[in-house]
Amino acid sequence: MAAPLAAPPSLHVAATLREALDALAERGPEGAPFAGGTWIMRAPLRHEAPRPAYVALGRIAELREIAVGETELTIGAAVTHAALAEALAGLPEFAGLRLAAGTSANPAVRAAATLGGNLATAAFPAADLVPALLALSAEVEIADRQGAERLPIAEFLARRASLAPGRLLTRVRVPRRHIRSAHARLPLRKAGDYPVAVVALAIEPDGAGRIGAARIAVGSVEPVARRWDGLEAALRGSPLDPAAAAERARAHADEFSGRDGIEAPGWYRVSVLPALVRRAVAALGPR
Ligand SMILES: Cc1cc2nc3c(=O)[nH]c(=O)nc-3n(C[C@H](O)[C@H](O)[C@H](O)COP(=O)(O)OP(=O)(O)OC[C@H]3O[C@@H](n4cnc5c(N)ncnc54)[C@H](O)[C@@H]3O)c2cc1C
Repeated sequence: MAAPLAAPPSLHVAATLREALDALAERGPEGAPFAGGTWIMRAPLRHEAPRPAYVALGRIAELREIAVGETELTIGAAVTHAALAEALAGLPEFAGLRLAAGTSANPAVRAAATLGGNLATAAFPAADLVPALLALSAEVEIADRQGAERLPIAEFLARRASLAPGRLLTRVRVPRRHIRSAHARLPLRKAGDYPVAVVALAIEPDGAGRIGAARIAVGSVEPVARRWDGLEAALRGSPLDPAAAAERARAHADEFSGRDGIEAPGWYRVSVLPALVRRAVAALGPR
C-alpha cells in the first residue's frame, strides 16, 4: 500500500499586520510567513519539507507601502522587487538599489518576490537586495505581538536564522544621504537567474571629486553577504577611477573565501570581484 500523503500546508491570508502577528504567534514553530512564495514554492527542489502552516502577507496594505521622507526611505516588507524598482526611478542616490531590484532574477519572479523574503531567507546567498541595502547602511524593523525593534541590517543577517517564531520583518529603513550608488552583478548561463557574485557600492563624494567614504558590500561569494572593509578603507580619498579601484580590489580580494556551488567554484566568484568593482565605479559616472 502506498504511504499516506502528508496534509498540504494551511494558508491563513492576513488582512492586517496585527492579524498576521497574532496568527504567527498562535502557530508557533509550525508556522512561517508566506510572502512572494518564490523561495517557499521551490522547497521540493531543495528536498525540503514545507512548514505545516503559512501566514500570507500579500494583502497587508501597510507592508506594501514605500514612503520617501526627507531623511529616510521606508520600504514595507511585502513590497515586490518590481514595485521597488519602479518607486526608486526618481531617486538617483538609490540607483544601486533600483538596479538590484530591477535586474534580479527575471520579470515574473520580480513581480512576486518581496523585500522581506529576500532578506529573511538565510539559506539564499545570491540575494541582490541584501548587498545593496548593506551598502546603504539600512536598518531593519522586526515585530512580534509584544512590540517592534529596529536593528542594523548586518545584525539582522547575523540573527535571522534564529529569529524566534512569530517574529516578522516589517520594514526596511534607508537613510537618505548625499551619496551615489551602483550595483554590479555577474549572472552566468550555467547559474540560471542567480548571480555568481555581486558588488554593491555607495560613495560619499568629498567635494573635490574624490571618494570621501565608500561602503561596499559583496553578495553571493560567501554564504552571507557582507561589507568589504579593506577595500572601503583603501578607496577613501582616492579619485573615482574604475581601473585604479579594480587594482585595489585585486589587492584586497583575499578577504573573501568563495563558496563552491554547482554554478561556480569559490575561487571563480572571488576572481571576478575586481571586474565587478570596476563596473560599479564606472557606473557612478564622471564626477
Ligand atoms: C529561479 C529564481 C531565481 C531568482 N533569482 C534571484 C536573484 O538573482 N536575486 C534575487 O535577489 N532574488 C532572486 N530570486 C527571488 C528570491 O527567491 C526572493 O528574492 C526571496 O529569496 C524570496 O522572496 P519571497 O517574497 O518569494 O519569499 P517567500 O518564498 O514567500 O519566503 C521565503 C522565506 O522568507 C520568509 N519570509 C518571507 N517574508 C518574511 C518576512 N516579512 N519576515 C520574516 N520572514 C519572512 C518565509 O517564511 C520563508 O522562510 C529568484 C527566485 C527564483 C524562483
